[in-house]
Amino acid sequence: MKYFDVCIIGGGHTGLVSALAFAKNNFNVLCIEKESYFETGATRLELRTTAHLMPAVKFLDSVGIWEHLKKYSCPLKTLKIINNYTVTSKASSKASENIFESEEIRKNCFGYNVPLGQSIKTLRQLVSSNENIELYNSTSLVSSRIDDELRLVQLSNGEIIKTKLLIGADGSRSAVRNLFNISVFEKNTQQIALTFNVKHGIEHSNISYEIYKEGGPLTTVPMADDAGGMHSSIVWMNKKQVADDLLKLNKKDFLEVLNERSHFCLGPMEPISKIKDIPVKFMIAKQITSERVAIIGEAAHKLPPIGAQGFNMSVKDIEILLDLSLRNPEAIGSFEMLNRYQIKRYPEILSKSGSVGMLNLLAYSEQMPFQKMRAFGLDAINSFSPLKRIIMRFGLG
Ligand SMILES: Cc1cc2nc3c(=O)[nH]c(=O)nc-3n(C[C@H](O)[C@H](O)[C@H](O)COP(=O)(O)OP(=O)(O)OC[C@H]3O[C@@H](n4cnc5c(N)ncnc54)[C@H](O)[C@@H]3O)c2cc1C
Repeated sequence: MKYFDVCIIGGGHTGLVSALAFAKNNFNVLCIEKESYFETGATRLELRTTAHLMPAVKFLDSVGIWEHLKKYSCPLKTLKIINNYTVTSKASSKASENIFESEEIRKNCFGYNVPLGQSIKTLRQLVSSNENIELYNSTSLVSSRIDDELRLVQLSNGEIIKTKLLIGADGSRSAVRNLFNISVFEKNTQQIALTFNVKHGIEHSNISYEIYKEGGPLTTVPMADDAGGMHSSIVWMNKKQVADDLLKLNKKDFLEVLNERSHFCLGPMEPISKIKDIPVKFMIAKQITSERVAIIGEAAHKLPPIGAQGFNMSVKDIEILLDLSLRNPEAIGSFEMLNRYQIKRYPEILSKSGSVGMLNLLAYSEQMPFQKMRAFGLDAINSFSPLKRIIMRFGLG
């Protein structure tokens, strides 16, 4: 029976980063992924992107990952929020603009936008060549039990391994969470995120736009390209019915609606990738530990894609779990260590999730009180710079 200090279930974004972070600190790691190794044929401009905020970048740098992702990344220097709202019962629509500059909080940028497919491919290559990590593809978790100070893990390839710490990084439908009967709070917001990449007529100048209207925001996130900043990725949230109707439009009509909705902030835009429709869910696990088990990433929290929090929260989970493991490496996976993980990490997961949930409600509601609150909140933030700086720092985590 093979022994590993850490066994990670899930070789997605969170699982791969955690495998590399633990391996960098001399733990021997097994990472289990149920899918076979995938190579995507798409180019870097055709893939969904993930905004990495500065605290996550700093951690990825400290464990030797960032230098490999940096070359595909695009700095995010400015956030412009355009808010469409209705303030009177006569339903006259107005639009206001708020600008957040990273320089206002003395940073060169808020973070970097990285193509997800490129990032997964790079992380997999790093994992495959790391001598402290074994990666099993096309394998999943079957069952697990405690044996003295260890956890035995039965895998679908017939193997049973021993580990001190089992990490569930297996996404929002986590088998680890289910196996250990960890229940969740969840809400289906009945929204769909349409995600695709576009080329546009005006340079993005490292600006991300969030354009608010009922149904949710349309967000543009700048991408690195060879054409001087003429590509961005789009996350366009809508109520399900509206998204379904948009997907039925022909190309010309879709372009017309998209360009009007984007306020032509980047000039005329045109999709250069497939349009993916992703259901938006809100889910928080009621606890993030069990005996010699920790759950991280979307297995622990799944949020609407607003404010670029999802993966950035996953990196924080990994950072805290690693830090606690390093305080006493012999006691990795012990009750005391995992108890500290729960106490240290869980309140922040609740507060971040609560803020994102509230922001999403304010963002998608067509009811006038919520639209007024959104307009009032943005005005207040804009006119009181200390509050604006606090909000920006909170957003960065
Ligand atoms: C439209 C959109 C835009 C987003 N933009 C951002 C952003 O800009 N910034 C940000 O921080 N976050 C963003 N997010 C959130 C971010 O993408 C997710 O938080 C993150 O990708 C989740 O990664 P994960 O590895 O935790 O889960 P997953 O990506 O779901 O990975 C789980 C992995 O586990 C494997 N697995 C599942 N079950 C098993 C099993 N039983 N055994 C073995 N393996 C298993 C799966 O095959 C998969 O590879 C966005 C999300 C969406 C939908």
